[in-house]
Amino acid sequence: LGPAHLGRIMNYRHAFHAGNFADVIKHIVLVLCIEHLKKKPAPFRVIDTHAGIGRYRLHTGEATRTGEWRDGIARLFGPEAAPLSPAIAALLKPYLDLISAENSSGALNIYPGSPAIVQSMLRRDDRFIANELHPEDAKALAAAMKGDKAVITSAIDGYTALKAHLPPKERRGLVLVDPPFEEPGELIRLTEGLAEGLKRFATGTFALWYPIKDPKHTTRFKRAIAEVTAHADVPPALEVEMFLRPPRNPALLNGAGLVVINPPFTLYADMNAILTELLPRLSDNPEATFSVDALPKAPKAPKPADKK
Ligand code: SAM
Repeated sequence: LGPAHLGRIMNYRHAFHAGNFADVIKHIVLVLCIEHLKKKPAPFRVIDTHAGIGRYRLHTGEATRTGEWRDGIARLFGPEAAPLSPAIAALLKPYLDLISAENSSGALNIYPGSPAIVQSMLRRDDRFIANELHPEDAKALAAAMKGDKAVITSAIDGYTALKAHLPPKERRGLVLVDPPFEEPGELIRLTEGLAEGLKRFATGTFALWYPIKDPKHTTRFKRAIAEVTAHADVPPALEVEMFLRPPRNPALLNGAGLVVINPPFTLYADMNAILTELLPRLSDNPEATFSVDALPKAPKAPKPADKK
């Protein structure tokens, strides 16, 4: 990575967005994937390539300036949240229990980022590698995870981390790839990293988060992922998307999605049920929508030798 890349990385602060609708959906998927891994006693490993700082204070600094969490986690937890139906409360219990554990007074003060979420779900022999490149954030992450022998923190480029840490010795696990998408060339690096990752760990679950601003970019992103999965020994991936509003203005974060490769077989039904109930809570716009669908593999391009 050159100095221009590093400059842009320095600019992104996840604290502005902590606990927003996109974090809520991403972390629900993360928790459901880990819950699924925990159904078997064999240990697993989680690798978080773009981990952030671990947990976020909602009433100080960046998070107060945007208040994005008020339209996200505050609609599910805390004094202003309406009760959930019993079925959805049961599905979301592991996620909401860990939000509750971070906020023992019942008021919403702290939002756990992916590292705090993963760390709290590990069993005795499970392991976690949390990686963050931003120098200050990497320091904060190391401090947040300090003293936990199950967690290794590193501060290298996330795509290099992906290659460096796969396959995990447990041969079971989850890779979360959650970049800020602020750098030119990010998509190419992500797809190359994913292709390498799948070569090394084709049985692993990979969850890739993406923002939905300009639908043309989203289509390009999904096509690139579908091309990578076409060349890997994996079933079609699952995509989970939520639109706060129709994406008419490409300057706004209109929605967010995740592609999950090797998803738990329960994820399709669970996310359909969860988003049916959460959609009207997380968006006041009557045109808000969601979808949970298979992401078909792209047709394989003919090899040069096959071309006439
Ligand atoms: N995964 C976190 C969570 O769910 O709580 C949020 C991560 S945030 C969306 C993206 C993070 O990636 C930022 O903290 C940013 O500093 C970091 N980052 C940016 N470029 C990176 C790179 N090339 N390698 C690793 N981390 C990077």
